[in-house]
Amino acid sequence: MTASKNQPASNQPANIVLEKWADIGFDWAGKVSVDELPRLAAQVSRDGVLDVSVSLAKKNGILWLNFAVAGVLKLPCQRCLEPMAVDVSGEYQLAILADEKDSALVDGAEFVLVDELNPHDGRKMLPLLDLLEDELLLALPLAPRHDDCEMLTDSVGDAPEEQPENPFAALAALKGRLN
Ligand SMILES: [Zn+2]
Repeated sequence: MTASKNQPASNQPANIVLEKWADIGFDWAGKVSVDELPRLAAQVSRDGVLDVSVSLAKKNGILWLNFAVAGVLKLPCQRCLEPMAVDVSGEYQLAILADEKDSALVDGAEFVLVDELNPHDGRKMLPLLDLLEDELLLALPLAPRHDDCEMLTDSVGDAPEEQPENPFAALAALKGRLN
């Protein structure tokens, strides 16, 4: 193996080989453009670039994929359709589980099952960009609106003022898509 440990590439790898990196760990940090995340790009009103660091590391026998994201995306406001800034900075964490029964060990954290990962050349690949995109999509507000939107709703009748954010609905939709 010639790749230097923990630094397999300078560009964000879309996928990494799970067996290769699960034990030694994997770290990457750099810029990810919204262009590289087509499902996210479809939701935002203009291009953006996020600072992302990725780490794959075992903790207490569980393999965790951690994303630290810093950046702001522009989404169309649902009232006036002008772009509004949505800060998606944060830490996102997923457990990579070999067995669904191990989900009892991750304390309600999100997880993906190794069995659900697509193999490539017979090797299980961890789709880093896809998983990052999933996390970012879940982090977006379902009904983005400027707090001080100039488009008044008085004339529109009884539109509900605040749509409660429901991450579980988004998660359910995501799960449906994965099945
Ligand atoms: Zn607005």
